Parts: sequence; structure tokens; C-alpha cells
Amino acid sequence: MDDVVVVGGGIIGAATAYFLSKEGRKVRVIERDPAYKKASFPLSLGGFRRQFFQKENINLGKFALEFISDISNTLKTKNNPNPTASLVPNGYLLLFGPEHAEEQYEALKNHKACDAGTKNIPASKLKDVFSWINPEGLETATYTDNKIEGWIDPHMFHNALKNKAIELGAKFEKGDVKKISEIKANTIVSAAGCWTKELLDDIPVAPQKHTVFRLKCPKHHPEMPLTGDLPSGVYWRPEGNEYLAGSPNSKFDCPDLEPEWDDFENLVWPALANRVPEFEKLKLTGGWAGYYDCCRKTSKI
Ligand SMILES: Cc1cc2nc3c(=O)[nH]c(=O)nc-3n(C[C@H](O)[C@H](O)[C@H](O)COP(=O)(O)OP(=O)(O)OC[C@H]3O[C@@H](n4cnc5c(N)ncnc54)[C@H](O)[C@@H]3O)c2cc1C
Repeated sequence: MDDVVVVGGGIIGAATAYFLSKEGRKVRVIERDPAYKKASFPLSLGGFRRQFFQKENINLGKFALEFISDISNTLKTKNNPNPTASLVPNGYLLLFGPEHAEEQYEALKNHKACDAGTKNIPASKLKDVFSWINPEGLETATYTDNKIEGWIDPHMFHNALKNKAIELGAKFEKGDVKKISEIKANTIVSAAGCWTKELLDDIPVAPQKHTVFRLKCPKHHPEMPLTGDLPSGVYWRPEGNEYLAGSPNSKFDCPDLEPEWDDFENLVWPALANRVPEFEKLKLTGGWAGYYDCCRKTSKI
């Protein structure tokens, strides 16, 4: 009988293994693809933010910064003496039209209650802070500019968590769990991400494909925050000397991870060029797709 078995060795599985091993539990992590070709975490944008509606999410975003900022101490190991998550603390900027503004004013009350440190600015003043924006059609925006939100390299972060968990005694092994009843353990943790329903039929999570484009623009703003344009659903951020931009189009029931290339021309580029006029000169240099773990609209959750 095992003490703890974690099914899935992605970012949640590795973090679970770390935190439980630190508390003295004997953890075994079973991962079916240790190359993580389709796992969500390496295909994500690695963003961490506190600009959420729910207080629980806001507080998790605060904890994320606290934890990531200290991993050079907490996740140091013999094999990985200088762990880093390659933190880029550029902040988040969320842009709201009249249709979404009211909800964000409510969210701001929760930000305040959680001491989240977010700022609110009317659209008419946006250009004073973000000179590259076209504020047309916007009512308001919320943002941070004091290094409390941003993004990390999810692959490096995962590596640091996994290494430390192993040093603390966790075992990572390759295996494809077909049924939870195969496992005999005091505690079983499902960290199977968007594939959870394959093991736990009552959890209505499904893989939802999201496409990300890699873009080059003659003018680059390395200091740009991760910007979410709510009216179009498009979001973007700098990555090295390029940009990454996410399509607002998401799809269930896609067994392959082929990017939705047409979304660039049809949805993403027009939205980007509208909000940041210099993005008219963008060139597409690449892209990929990954699965979010989502509930379908018909789900009761
Ligand atoms: C394009 C994109 C952008 C994103 N951007 C962000 C962002 O900026 N910020 C953010 O917080 N989140 C973001 N996300 C979401 C984030 O990536 C996921 O919520 C997160 O990675 C989920 O982690 P996980 O460990 O649960 O799942 P995964 O990373 O998918 O890991 C699950 C693992 O379980 C394994 N597994 C599944 N079933 C079994 C089984 N039966 N037996 C053995 N192993 C199994 C899989 O092989 C996989 O390795 C983004 C996602 C996408 C697709």
C-alpha cells in the first residue's frame, strides 16, 4: 500500500509532490508521458495574476508571486543549485468595454478587500500610461505596474518543483493509469489536468483547444504587460524580441493540437491592429495550440 499516489506529473502533480513530500508524506507520481508533449503546462503562457473576481483566486495569485520569488531558496537542490522560473514581472493590463466594466468594478471591491494592489484607470486616461493603446470603445482598465503580476517559464518552474520533490523523496515513474481502482494508497490525488474525466467520471472537465501565435513587429515594447482586450477576447504579451498572442476562439472535441491558423487573419490580427495601431505591421512567425482544462457550458459546475 502506497502512502500518496499522484496521477499526472504536470505542474499540479509536481507541485503536489513537492508540498506533500515537504510534510513528510511518501509520494509516488505516475505520469504517462514524461516528455509532456500534450500536457497543458509547457504549452501555456505561464502567466500569474491577481486580477480575478473571486477572493480565493486573488489570494492564490498573491501566493504565486510570494512562492515563485523565493524558489532560489526553497527549491534549491544538489542537482539544481540555482533554480529559476525566469520571472518577468511586467504586470497585467485588462481592458474593458461597457459590456464588461460593471463586473470589473465589482471585482475591484474584492481586489481591495484582498489588498491586491491593482489600479483602475478610465479609458480616457489610458494613453497617459500606455502610449501605444487605442482606447476607442473601452470604458475602463485595471492593471498593476509594481512587479506583482507577470509570467514565468512554466517548463523551468516545473523542473524546479520536480527536482526538489525528488530530493525530498518523491518518486516519479512512467505509467498510464486506466482506472483509479488500480491504485492502492492511503491518499490518491488526481492531477490529470484536462484528462481528469477519463478517471473520475463525475468531474466534468474536458480538453479545450486554444491557439497561441508567435508574432514579430518592427517596433518592440519589451516592457509591455500581458494585455487582455475583453471586447475582442484577444490577449498578448512580449516574449523575447517577439510577441505571443492568444486567439479568442476555443474548441472542445479536438483530438489533435493543430493550431487554428485561420484565426490569425480572421480574428487576432484585426483585434491587435485595432487596439495597438503599430501591430498593423505584425508578421506571423509561428504558433502552437494546447488544451485548457474546462467545463462545457452545459455542465452544472
Ligand atoms: C495556450 C494556453 C495558455 C495558458 N496560459 C496560462 C497562463 O498564462 N497562466 C495560467 O495559470 N494557466 C495558463 N494555462 C492553463 C494551464 O496551462 C493549466 O491550467 C495547467 O497547466 C494545468 O496543469 P495540470 O498539471 O493540471 O495539467 P497538465 O499540465 O496537462 O498535466 C497533466 C498531466 O497528467 C498526465 N496524465 C493525464 N492522465 C493520466 C493518466 N491516466 N495516467 C498518467 N498520467 C496522466 C498527462 O500526461 C499530463 O502530463 C494555459 C493553457 C493553455 C493551453
